[in-house]
Amino acid sequence: MKERLQVLQEEALAKVEEASTVEALQQVRVSYLGKKGPITEVLRGMGKLSAEERPVIGDLANKVREAIATQLDEKKATLETKALDEKLLTEKIDVTLPGRPVQVGGPHLLTSIVEEIEDLFIGMGFEVREGPEVETDYYNFEALNLPKDHPARDMQDSFYITEELLLRTHTSPVQARTMGEYKGSKAVKMICPGKVYRRDTDDATHSHQFTQVEGLYVDKDVKMSDLKGVLNQFAKQFFGEEREIRLRPSFFPFTEPSVEMDISCKVCGGEGCSVCKNTGWIEILGGGMVHPDVLEMAGYDPKVYSGFAFGMGPERIAMLKYGVDDIRHFYTNDARFLKQYHKA
Ligand SMILES: [Zn+2]
Repeated sequence: MKERLQVLQEEALAKVEEASTVEALQQVRVSYLGKKGPITEVLRGMGKLSAEERPVIGDLANKVREAIATQLDEKKATLETKALDEKLLTEKIDVTLPGRPVQVGGPHLLTSIVEEIEDLFIGMGFEVREGPEVETDYYNFEALNLPKDHPARDMQDSFYITEELLLRTHTSPVQARTMGEYKGSKAVKMICPGKVYRRDTDDATHSHQFTQVEGLYVDKDVKMSDLKGVLNQFAKQFFGEEREIRLRPSFFPFTEPSVEMDISCKVCGGEGCSVCKNTGWIEILGGGMVHPDVLEMAGYDPKVYSGFAFGMGPERIAMLKYGVDDIRHFYTNDARFLKQYHKA
């Protein structure tokens, strides 16, 4: 019986040695130390032994059992450490690697330009006003001296919702609304930025939706020289101190007289080049003195009040300032284009 126990111990220890996984080790534990295992069997057969032999064999059986158990525990600890080491090795995190970049958005170039224009005019005492993009025929045309049969309406064909409702073709209705709100009681000094719509075929310089910033200053004794002073200030702050401006006669139904403003070409300095079409000047915006009829319709007495108005396209300003060659770049939302203009 002693021999049987010793053989069992050797066998068991060899199997422990062989086991390469925790699961295999558990199999060894069950087969040798389990209730149906050979050692338990030996102990059951002790009843047949003599009184002298019994404690000796019992003692030996316990020692064998203990030796196997100890080996099992040690091997288990070793295997577990090894498994953990392997796991750590495969899941190793290199803390020195750079992190994944977070995509940071920024304002759209047009938003930046509009905000820049706003800041500039706020600095000159103008307030910023907004109005609806779905506008009535009255505010979009009639209140601006464009009655129903006026030929100038043809230049501003729009998208109609009903006979009397349309997507505004300019931000001028905001001026008419503001003057109407004040009812001739006080001076108006405002700019109105916003989206406008025209039924144009999209190409490099036209878009059916674009942006405008218009300005209006109505007060007692406002003169053409005030308009020139304000626009000169705008041109120099926006495009550079060295830029000259010039005003050319033009026509708008809501201003009289009307002008177009050009700035001297930055590329050639006025000599003439392909950018300025050899004129030395680049057209920037339109403006003029508010038509007396427009003042009167809004409740301002044209004999007491006078004013100037102007309007510009932020797309055109952005195209000139940053050399953008196609207006569609602003609306196709290609991040590669837009990212170039994100301010840090
Ligand atoms: Zn030029």
